[in-house]
Amino acid sequence: MTTDTGSERTGPILHNSGVGPSVRPSPAVLKARRERLLAAIAIDGIDVAIVAPGADLRYLLGDSFPSFERLTALVLGRSVCLLVVPEMELSAWSTVVAQSSLEVFAWADWQDPYAVIVDLVGTNSVVAVSHELPARHLVTLQEAVGQAAEWRLNSAVTSLRGVKDDWEINQIEGAASAIDDVHAAVPGLLRPGRTEAAVAADIQHVMRENGFTDSEFIAVASGPNAANPHHSANARTIERGDLVLVDLSGRWHGGYFADSTRTYAVSTPLPETARAYAALLRSFECAVSAVKPGVTAQQVDLAARNELSEHGLAELFIHRTGHGIGLDVHEDPSLVRGNEELLRDGMAFTIEPGIYLPGRFGARIEDVVVMTNGVARQLNARPHELLVV
Ligand code: ZN
Ligand code: ZN
Repeated sequence: MTTDTGSERTGPILHNSGVGPSVRPSPAVLKARRERLLAAIAIDGIDVAIVAPGADLRYLLGDSFPSFERLTALVLGRSVCLLVVPEMELSAWSTVVAQSSLEVFAWADWQDPYAVIVDLVGTNSVVAVSHELPARHLVTLQEAVGQAAEWRLNSAVTSLRGVKDDWEINQIEGAASAIDDVHAAVPGLLRPGRTEAAVAADIQHVMRENGFTDSEFIAVASGPNAANPHHSANARTIERGDLVLVDLSGRWHGGYFADSTRTYAVSTPLPETARAYAALLRSFECAVSAVKPGVTAQQVDLAARNELSEHGLAELFIHRTGHGIGLDVHEDPSLVRGNEELLRDGMAFTIEPGIYLPGRFGARIEDVVVMTNGVARQLNARPHELLVV
């Protein structure tokens, strides 16, 4: 597997963030993203954006590091691009700072970081706050600035992140291919007599070997446990006759996420189970084919649901059909009833219908697709059929 996937313009920069190599876009691309954000908030009449650590900051600066209870924030306006960061956390940011034109205010524990922001923001500004800014910081800032300023949560960064450029899609493709390699190892790990937890521990090891710096979620849900869509793994012993739902998501090389589910059968399934799974597969395929120019997010959800109702299984499908994916494992767009957002080229999202029969079994099929030339291009290549192990 290689991380050398970028073009010259957007070539990745390898660095070490403590958990293995990660990739980031070039400084020019990051600067262009910050400029696009400034243009987007200006349209909404917003003067300054305050962005906290998390995926938004990773998108704008190429990386992000937590600062626990201390304030870290990027303050971005027409005449300011300042990273406020605790002095004791500054070393983590050294590569980010060296490769950008950021000003930095590194504050010591006996200094007041809020006062610096208040000076920059002023008391009559309209401020956009990223949703990851902890309330403790937001409330303190609001008190310090006073009532005249207007504070708005703003979706500008989220909107920018929703449509991926070629370099980002390349990263998501790499992550999808790596998670396929992990799924390829799963049949060899699923044996009657092993616990879900033991299989999950083995999978975590395989994920690390395949470049996943974080394993966000490893579900090994066997038999009746799979009827809970968010079951992870426990001490239950896998038995012959079980369906085992394996949902794997993780951050690849410190950047973009993979998320893929396959359902395995430990010995030949009962005819009734096989019929239900065949309907689920049909539902997955209908959702993929529903992605077309001019289609909204909710129409894809409806396509998956309608197919299951043909087989009397719609009641068992108890969650949305999919979610956007990128620097966060769950981001916009949400493929759910009521979301009238138009799907657009460059959007990457999961398609993951599931059926859950309490006390009996559960099954789900999940792939990441990217909308390209108006259709859903599937990035995962593992077979979708029920795999008997
Ligand atoms: Zn998912
Ligand atoms: Zn998943």
